[in-house]
Amino acid sequence: MHGEEIKYITEAYETNWMSTVGANINEVERIAAEKAGVRYAVALSCCTAALHLCVKFAGEKLYGKPPIGHGAVEGRRVFCSDMTFDATLNPVVYEGGIPVFIDTERDTWNMDPAALEKAFEIYPEVRLVVAAHLYGFPGKIDELRAVCDRHGALLIEDAAESMGATYKGKQTGSFGDYAAISYNGNKIITGSSGGCLLTNELEVANKARKWSTQARENAAWYQHEEVGYNYRMSNVIAGVVRGQYPYLEEHIAQKKAVWERYREGLKGLPVSMNPFEEDKSVPNYWLSAMIIDKEAMCKQVRDDNTAMYQPEHGKSCPTEILEAIASINAEGRPIWKPMHMQPMYRMNAFITVAGNGRARTNAYIAGGVEDVGADIFERGLCLPSDNKMTKEQQDVVIEIIRKCFE
Ligand SMILES: *Cc1c(COP(=O)(O)O)cnc(C)c1O
Repeated sequence: MHGEEIKYITEAYETNWMSTVGANINEVERIAAEKAGVRYAVALSCCTAALHLCVKFAGEKLYGKPPIGHGAVEGRRVFCSDMTFDATLNPVVYEGGIPVFIDTERDTWNMDPAALEKAFEIYPEVRLVVAAHLYGFPGKIDELRAVCDRHGALLIEDAAESMGATYKGKQTGSFGDYAAISYNGNKIITGSSGGCLLTNELEVANKARKWSTQARENAAWYQHEEVGYNYRMSNVIAGVVRGQYPYLEEHIAQKKAVWERYREGLKGLPVSMNPFEEDKSVPNYWLSAMIIDKEAMCKQVRDDNTAMYQPEHGKSCPTEILEAIASINAEGRPIWKPMHMQPMYRMNAFITVAGNGRARTNAYIAGGVEDVGADIFERGLCLPSDNKMTKEQQDVVIEIIRKCFE
């Protein structure tokens, strides 16, 4: 927090605009749209709500309005990012869709356009793709867009983690037919919660405002023609977001410094940082992550909720490093566990570049096909990345990681 947040919260309080209407909301929508380079932003209670409305818009555009009580993509397959937070695709399931998971590429750790192309060969009837930008490092979004266009599919872009990041000079969140950003407490800027739906269509923006406020028709009484949601952002939360926006660039610079200090500090170890296409994208560096070289992995096994490893001279693994980091009361995390490895999605299709594949274990794969997501999950981890972390604190973390390889 920087101080301006409390000024806008106080303004909301003193003018009694304490609900889902007010100057803070209007300003957040104006700034969010301007920053993202889209025409309209609609302020909502969270990014998951924004993604839910995105799926509804896409579903109704593709398949028409479903009968009351039925989902907008009910019974339909939807291609989804695999190595991501489950909020990316939960809304697909809310609307009755069947996620088909698309494997990850190694250049940016996001949805692989070649695997997506493969998926359209296997399921040519699919018309909707939901793709996220992991950890603030843009995916190959123009290639994904091109694959979607070739197959007449709509693209929902989950830019929750990547606000402020650009691809070929354009903001993430401006490539999708519909997109969503997040102000969750852990994101690059925050309102404690909140998110926006981004669109270039006025009709979509107006309808998102209507759907998110219980879908009231234009009448003096409560008139309803369709189902609604209580998804609008509060003017108090919007005050926090409004106060944070001027600091987006500063936060990105701090996060970039953290990522670069790790890259320098870990030089000489058999590891590399989460990658991006340096000639194409400018990340927001939201989360620093690293991956251990295959040859430098000690033995590690994970079941559904525990992990074990065998210490080995000159080698390490995410479990060992995460335990070491936790021992000084700092916080690291494994990489998002790929969705195709999650118990609830074990029956869903998972498409790799070589075609249909399923990973049953943490390692590689069925039919000699490489499972990139499982491999990054096995060897990668997220590092403490707070923008307020001092160089001295970070040096301690780096030293601890170095010790793991001794
Ligand atoms: C945080 C996050 C979301 C959800 O954002 P909320 O505002 O918490 O609903 C969605 N997708 C990704 C990739 C996220 O990291």
